[in-house]
Amino acid sequence: MITADDLIALVRAYNPKTNAERITAAYEFGREMHEGQTRHSGEPYFTHPVAVAALLTEQRLDDATIITALLHDTIEDTKASFPEVARRFGDEVAMLVDGVTKLTNLQLSSNETKQAENFRKLFMAMSKDLRVILVKLADRLHNMRTIKAMRPEKQAQKARETMDIYAPLAGRMGMQWMREELEDLSFRVLNPEGRQSIIRRFIVLQKESGDVIHRITGDMRAELTKAGIEAEVFGRAKKPYSIWRKMQEKDQGFSRLSDIYGFRIITGSEEDCYRTLGAIHRRWRAVPGRFKDYISQPKSNGYRSIHTTVSGRDGKRVEVQIRTAQMHDVAETGVAAHWSYRDGVRSGNPFAVDPAKWIASLNEQFEGEDDHDEFLEAVKLEMYSDQVFCFTPKGDVVKLPRGATPIDFAFAIHTRIGFAVVGAKVDGLRVPLWTRLKNGQSVEVITAEGQTPQASWLEIATTGKAKTAIRRALREVDRERFIKLGRELVRAAFENVGRKATDKALDTAAKHLRLDGRDQLLARLGSAEITAHDVVQAVYPELAPDKGDQISPRRAVVGLQPGQSFDRAPCCQPLPGERIVGITYRGKGVVVHAIDCALLGEYEDQPDRWIDLHWHAGTHPPIYGTSLDLTIGNDAGVLGRICTLIGEKKANISNLKFVDRKPDFYRLMIDVELRDVEQLHSLMLTLEADSDVAALERHRDEARPRAAVG
Ligand code: MN
Repeated sequence: MITADDLIALVRAYNPKTNAERITAAYEFGREMHEGQTRHSGEPYFTHPVAVAALLTEQRLDDATIITALLHDTIEDTKASFPEVARRFGDEVAMLVDGVTKLTNLQLSSNETKQAENFRKLFMAMSKDLRVILVKLADRLHNMRTIKAMRPEKQAQKARETMDIYAPLAGRMGMQWMREELEDLSFRVLNPEGRQSIIRRFIVLQKESGDVIHRITGDMRAELTKAGIEAEVFGRAKKPYSIWRKMQEKDQGFSRLSDIYGFRIITGSEEDCYRTLGAIHRRWRAVPGRFKDYISQPKSNGYRSIHTTVSGRDGKRVEVQIRTAQMHDVAETGVAAHWSYRDGVRSGNPFAVDPAKWIASLNEQFEGEDDHDEFLEAVKLEMYSDQVFCFTPKGDVVKLPRGATPIDFAFAIHTRIGFAVVGAKVDGLRVPLWTRLKNGQSVEVITAEGQTPQASWLEIATTGKAKTAIRRALREVDRERFIKLGRELVRAAFENVGRKATDKALDTAAKHLRLDGRDQLLARLGSAEITAHDVVQAVYPELAPDKGDQISPRRAVVGLQPGQSFDRAPCCQPLPGERIVGITYRGKGVVVHAIDCALLGEYEDQPDRWIDLHWHAGTHPPIYGTSLDLTIGNDAGVLGRICTLIGEKKANISNLKFVDRKPDFYRLMIDVELRDVEQLHSLMLTLEADSDVAALERHRDEARPRAAVG
């Protein structure tokens, strides 16, 4: 553990006039108060306040702040009281410790409105004395650095809170290094696979491009020397989280150096910043639109620098920041630069903003009650975008549109994986397939052999890639099913005429019907685009059932006026043999309804439009369509058997449509062409007798509007 003397030495390095006795007294008091307490790691608790104090010496803070750090948990966690701290260390320290305690007690829940409210409190606290927030940030930084000792759920909660609140806050305070470290420590907890994947790719890139930093800093130094400018050049790799965020913001892959390496040139004077800029732009090409002059127009937190992006002969881009040492000081320590000490006196950094004034201006912006959410949005800025980035279990980044589901994720990886999806895990937990994915989630797709795309997936998928693949696959599945059906139908039809449906016979039929081979013939037959009768007739015209004695469709109905034509009502689809009635339409003929059709109610008050009709008593051709609503078990061969049964009953299937597909059951609508109601009853009895038919009904669409002729 850092001793009191170590700590004093750290303070004395920037503030020779420090009051060593006071710091020692605070150190002893804090140690005594926390005596017997331990951290999650098992270390004595007091190691934590001491580490926080040491962190604050890096920002060259005054004695009161260092003492506050040593005591920051005493009022909350020990028997020490506010009056006692005030008596021993003065009102200033007591107020600061009290402020930190209050911030610690803010419940930053995941509820956003509540968070916004808390943000306001946070800033109110800050506005009294900014040192409170500096201690709190150092406190959080140390806790994040030592987070490994906490329970996993607690780690995730702290990391989320740090990412959402403390890291952006550090950024607003101008402390870029702290922001980056807080983000990276959180990223490590929230998305370890994602972070690893970026680090892995980073290593690969480094192998490919060699020591880019060394080469470029060397080139820049040489260029500046040539121009007679004295300056220091630094290069560094950005933190994994910064890279991840850039990929997210800019919607681009991990390949551009400008997003990975940053270069910084520290000059002696403001004029040298601009001379440096000139020298850099003379040697390397400036990338348009990337130049920003924060020296002439500083950010509100005092940040000043020139930013530019240049590209070399190889086309690779790098970002360069140019600033003076004093500007750099402000950029690193932010508002704390105001309290900087040099040789025991407050250094007059001309670029440091006055924390009190800065905070006052911030608070003004957020005074209005309605601004909370807006402010929250602003603070969480990069948390929102049109895109979500998820990770595979191996840590590869998958970019998806907002609203994407695990189905989209699966198809984004590979169509084959998409086809085989049966479930998904998000961050290790099973979730329904319609779950909307969120940024940073790790998604594991569960697949199973034999799974095929479901029609319901079309509703769940949001990406074009997934939708197109699902549609194509559904068509393919249908085609296979139709070919199977076609084979059953043609077998039954050929058997009916005492022949075999050989491949040769089918090829012949296909040629006659101008189809592209027997699979197409079978698919057309299965999907009822052609009938089995057509196929038989194409091969054995002489064997096709004779239609000679059958009643012509035009004469099928008895009771019409000469020249009057009729249509079967699509709502009830009456069949020969059923009791019927006609409804006349002026100039357009007659629509024939079944006597029990519900739609007839609409004509009750117009008796003059009703005409008495009945079907011709003779043999009708099998051309009268009627729809069957059928639910069958989803077992191999069931559908084929059903179609065979229909064929054996000498009925044609004219249309077949899947209404619903469940893992266990299919519901389908089959349109069959029949001679009469007797054939229908016989067919329905046969189908109902099949053990795989769960439900069967003649479909009557009574909601359907009147006949087309109406
Ligand atoms: Mn603490």
